[in-house]
Amino acid sequence: MSCDKTFKCSVADKRLRIVMGYKIGDLIASGKTKLVYALDTPSLVLLRFKDDVTALDGRRRDTIAGKGALNAAISAKLFQVLREGGVENHFVEMLDESSMVVERLSMLPLEVVCRNVATGSIVKRLPIQEGVVFDPPIVEFFLKDDARGDPMLSEAHIVALKLASRGEVDEMIRAILKANEVLKDFLSKRGLTLIDFKLEFGRKEGKLMVGDELDPDCMRIRDSETGRILDKDLYRKGASLEEVKSAYEEVYRRIVER
Ligand code: 5GP
Repeated sequence: MSCDKTFKCSVADKRLRIVMGYKIGDLIASGKTKLVYALDTPSLVLLRFKDDVTALDGRRRDTIAGKGALNAAISAKLFQVLREGGVENHFVEMLDESSMVVERLSMLPLEVVCRNVATGSIVKRLPIQEGVVFDPPIVEFFLKDDARGDPMLSEAHIVALKLASRGEVDEMIRAILKANEVLKDFLSKRGLTLIDFKLEFGRKEGKLMVGDELDPDCMRIRDSETGRILDKDLYRKGASLEEVKSAYEEVYRRIVER
C-alpha cells in the first residue's frame, strides 16, 4: 500500500510514540482497511490493520472487532511463506498484534489478480461459467480507481499510461504466478483451496516487490472438503458479521496457529 493516489494524506497525527525501538511518526495515509505511519527509519513504514470491513468500493462499511489483528497475522505469515518461496515482498516484522513494519515502497496504482477458478468479476464480464478451472491460471490487471470502478487494463494500457514498463508487467506476471504456486501448495496442506487472489506491487530503489496485504480480504479461499467460503465473499454476499469473523478465525487457526 503506502501512499497511493487513492489515499487521503493527513498530517493530523503529529505525536511521536516509541514502540519496540521504533519511533512512530505522522499518519502518512489512511485507506479503507489500513493506516500507514512514518517511522524514524525513512526506508520503513508502519501498516496498521483496521477492524473495518468494506465492499462496493467502500460504499458499504462495518466494523468487526479483532479483524485487524487476524488479517495482520495472516498477512505476516503469508508474506513469510512467499519470501521462503522466492517471492520478494515488503514484510519486515510485526510491531504489535495489528501492526507490521514494512519496507516503504512507491506503490503502482494497480491490482494484479490471479485466478485458478472462475468466480467474481470474471463471470460477470465474460461468458465463462462459474467454477470453470483455469489451467494455466489467468492473470489480470486493474487500475486502482474507485471513481471509474477499477477498470481492467491490458499491458498496452499500462505502458501507455506509464504505470509500468513492459518488462515490469512481465515481472509482475511471473511473480504472481510463482506466488500462486507457493500459496496453493501451502494452503492445500491446510485443507484450503485458493480460488483467486489480488496482489499490489511497489518499487524500492527501482526494484519491484509485493506490498499491501495478503489475507481473506483480498483472496478467495474455500474449505477443500466442504466448499465453505472463508473470505470476504461472505460479507459481499450479505452474511452476518459473526459469520465473517468466524471464517477469518478459521483461516487464522489453519494458517497461523498450525
Ligand atoms: P474480482 O475481480 O473477482 O472481484 O476479485 C478477484 C480477487 O481479487 C478476489 O480474491 C478479490 O478479493 C480480490 N480483489 C479484487 N479487487 C479488490 C479490492 O479492491 N480490494 C481487495 N482487498 N481485494 C480485491
